[in-house]
Amino acid sequence: MAKFVFVTGGVVSSVGKGVCVGSIGKILKNQGFEVSLLKLDPYLNVDPGTMSPYQHGEVFVTTDGGETDLDLGHYERFVDVDLTRSSNLTAGQVYSEVISRERKGEFLGGTIQVVPHLTDRIKQHMHDLAEESDADVIVVEVGGTVGDIEGLPFLEAIRQMRNEVGRDNVFYIHLTFLPSISSTGELKTKPTQHSVRELRGIGIHPDAIVCRSDSPVPESLRQKIVVHCDVPLEGVFTVPTVSSIYEVPLLLEKQGIPQLITDSLNLISDEKSITLSLNGWGQLVERIKTPKENLKIGLVGKYVDLHDAYMSVKEALIHAGLFHSLNIDIDWIAAEEIEKNGPDQFLKDLQGIVIPGGFGDRGIEGMVSAVQYARENKIPYLGLCLGMQVMVIEAARNLLGKKSANSQEFDANTPDPVIHLMEDQVDVTQKGGTMRLGVYPCVIQSDSLTSRAYDESLVMERHRHRYEVNNDYREGLLEVGLKPTGLSPDGNLVEIMEIEDHPFMAGTQFHPEFLSRPVRPHPMFREFVGKSYEVAKKSAL
Ligand code: GLN
Repeated sequence: MAKFVFVTGGVVSSVGKGVCVGSIGKILKNQGFEVSLLKLDPYLNVDPGTMSPYQHGEVFVTTDGGETDLDLGHYERFVDVDLTRSSNLTAGQVYSEVISRERKGEFLGGTIQVVPHLTDRIKQHMHDLAEESDADVIVVEVGGTVGDIEGLPFLEAIRQMRNEVGRDNVFYIHLTFLPSISSTGELKTKPTQHSVRELRGIGIHPDAIVCRSDSPVPESLRQKIVVHCDVPLEGVFTVPTVSSIYEVPLLLEKQGIPQLITDSLNLISDEKSITLSLNGWGQLVERIKTPKENLKIGLVGKYVDLHDAYMSVKEALIHAGLFHSLNIDIDWIAAEEIEKNGPDQFLKDLQGIVIPGGFGDRGIEGMVSAVQYARENKIPYLGLCLGMQVMVIEAARNLLGKKSANSQEFDANTPDPVIHLMEDQVDVTQKGGTMRLGVYPCVIQSDSLTSRAYDESLVMERHRHRYEVNNDYREGLLEVGLKPTGLSPDGNLVEIMEIEDHPFMAGTQFHPEFLSRPVRPHPMFREFVGKSYEVAKKSAL
């Protein structure tokens, strides 16, 4: 039977709960246990797929096409697992399922209530995930912070779990933040005390408290938390802000979190585990800390004010940089600024350019001129989904001479719809969960940048889009040097395009960033970063 580690948050959000949860998953996996993870999101959207990236950050796509919370990206990268949509449950899903069962008359005249109907549904989901994943431990993160009204059904459900599955099978961690007073630099525990009191009021008594802070936490403060929050000293962990999120598992391990959790849950591993610092993860952190040369990569996008909107792209660049022993310095460039002021001042000092995914026409013309600039100045370029589509638009306009070429998404009446709505999207009217989503096979054409990157002829990649390259223009584009080097197995869908006669200019209809791992960078990112460095070195000579 699976054991459960529940992680709640206190004081403020956005202090890296997802990173801590991923780190705990990593630590437990390293101890030899099968781990799965679950994010409980208290908002009423059914999934984040319909939310603005400014509201929510990136939408992380799972193998089975789930549009999920960006924390699942952290979980996958830290624990090195492929999760499914079952690893994200929102209040919207819980309510809509319960209400639709009520409409079918399944409750036989009963009154439907938050307790027990919603809480039972939430608990059922946890049991189902345990069965489906066959994991020894499920690490469950409750989104938001204790005190949020909408989080109450989830907290109530995890409270009930302790009696339901037995006290030895449940471990509660409360993650809080210790603010500091700027004039004295003193860290304060009072908000943590209040938040633990609130949690205990709900009936959850934390077994451990993880304190995030901007500076190191003195021992005396740990003692204070022991007294006020009623946890043993060995249950108070501290995670001051560090230079890389990948250090967090080592920080927690060093303070003894693996022993505390495994002892409390009576988890006995057959494997002889070695500490993280002695295996590949330790080497990774060493590499992160070693000073490296900088590589300046421009990320031209629509939502650049919120870096979380491009979380996986940012991490994939970092992973590729680590592979080549480079520090990736991302220049966040708003496509609209390029539109207003021209590309030169923004792009001239860059060693590589990435255009990531996006929706809607704002900033598109800026992206097209960034692509033109990269192509003409031979700056390595990687386009991700929308970034591939604008690459095709630019080639059609400037190489094929079709000046009004566009995507139907941005100009429904364009005379040259080089990017058009996919056939099976034509009759789709519902917005949520209806794109081409999840993993699809892609056949790599030999003798290409792409084939050299992958070194495999068939790859599986994750998608999230409605539009695609219009096959009517494929031949013309090929004649001007735009080669489709990745195709669906039936040859009908263009999945990768690249430009000949350029050091590296490629675009993928899928999102390679979702598959990148810290110790296993994605081949397309690895190749792009490698070539960007090579070109920069040559031009410096
Ligand atoms: N808006 C484009 C489409 O739907 C690109 C999507 C994306 O970049 N994820 O096809």
